[in-house]
Amino acid sequence: MATTTKVRKTGMYENVMRQFERAAGVMNLDPSVKKILAITNNEIVVHFPVKMDNGDVQVFTGYRVQHNNALGPYKGGLRYHETVDLDAARALATWMTWKTSLAGLPYGGGKGGIQIDPKKFSQAELERITRRFTYALGDNIGPEHDIPAPDVNTNAQMMAWIADTYMSTKSPAERSKNQHVVTGKPVGSGGLEGRDRATGFGVVVTLEAWAKLRNTTLEGKKYIVQGFGNVGYWTAHFMNKNGAVLVGVQDATGTIYNPDGMDPEDLLQYQKDNATIHGYTDHDFDGSKFFGIDCDIIVPAALGNQITEENAGNIKARVIAEGANGPTDTEGEAILLANGVEIIPDILCNSGGVIGSYYEWLQNRNGEIWTMDDVITKLRKKLEDAFDKVVHTSEEYKTDWRTAAYIVALTRIEMAYQQRGIFP
Ligand code: NAD
Repeated sequence: MATTTKVRKTGMYENVMRQFERAAGVMNLDPSVKKILAITNNEIVVHFPVKMDNGDVQVFTGYRVQHNNALGPYKGGLRYHETVDLDAARALATWMTWKTSLAGLPYGGGKGGIQIDPKKFSQAELERITRRFTYALGDNIGPEHDIPAPDVNTNAQMMAWIADTYMSTKSPAERSKNQHVVTGKPVGSGGLEGRDRATGFGVVVTLEAWAKLRNTTLEGKKYIVQGFGNVGYWTAHFMNKNGAVLVGVQDATGTIYNPDGMDPEDLLQYQKDNATIHGYTDHDFDGSKFFGIDCDIIVPAALGNQITEENAGNIKARVIAEGANGPTDTEGEAILLANGVEIIPDILCNSGGVIGSYYEWLQNRNGEIWTMDDVITKLRKKLEDAFDKVVHTSEEYKTDWRTAAYIVALTRIEMAYQQRGIFP
């Protein structure tokens, strides 16, 4: 089986803190606000027992880190992956604070998950693990306090189990009004039309905005995607609708390459039938050379710390659209910028997901049913506005797009603290 890029397990938090330090310096962030944002508000670690299918009991460790809630309830995904630990949850929660602020949402940032490989468990076991994790978190989550969503290896079904478990622990009269404890639910049980595609659609809207800025279009542009899950597939779906050509895909099961282009819908079907992308093209491709493939656009849509000083120098693409959270570390980014490769930063590029989640939360909270058209139209407008804001801020401060995105996000939080003051 083809090898994929290695995953650096530690250092994600160090990465987010370096980005933060840089932006705080460029914008001259209020020193008191800087102290508050340099640390997480709450870090919840729960250990909980679950009965396995064979009758054995296994104890799991789950995390929920709440970074900051100056702008509203904590918001962010739950990840089931072997790399989940406190460092990763801290980093991902912190990125959520910047992301929700940049998007202009009334949310703060949180993130969590369980350190497991879900492939090792049956569907029934995953249901019991998810429900028991929800129960262990108790009122550390809540519809007006901390609202999880899907992330790597978690999906709409799991969100439905979380909602059901959380609601079941409330008194009968309170149950329905807690449905927005989690977003990314199936459409049949409080979910939003279009939430499934919101992140990938958003990635492509930011790429369209990039193309417009550079007086070009996505038509005929060659692109590669790392990760062919929720974000990777939907990105490819909308890229191909724009006439772009998918020449390479890498996921946890292998790396495939075809310079003549691949059809994302056909690949999705192959993946469903074979539980792998491996074998879709005739030849194996050396996974360690993936990011060096000759293409115009790279969309990392898997894990963090994938583009580093080890491979950044080989990149031929003009632009990187960060579908994943934290896919480029600071050393890798310095090389890319020096080589003139543009980066649409994660907190902007993949924010379609949390914006879609916000619409789902509003839908549940207000007892409404939104249509796909409502969602897609509003999402596009919000992302285009955020993209413009980042570009203008980068010109104003003469800085890169990531730092500019941080400045927009941090300015909003700084203002909230300055207006409110610090209790007592
Ligand atoms: P997913 O579980 O649906 O897909 C993850 C993909 O990553 C899979 O294709 C998997 O095979 C691949 N992968 C795992 N390990 C890999 C490795 N070592 N090398 C290459 N590929 C590997 O998850 P997702 O929801 O698509 O999330 C992907 C990324 O996007 C994550 O960084 C996540 O935080 C970010 N993100 C997701 C959302 C969302 O709405 N789901 C929103 C914003 C950001």
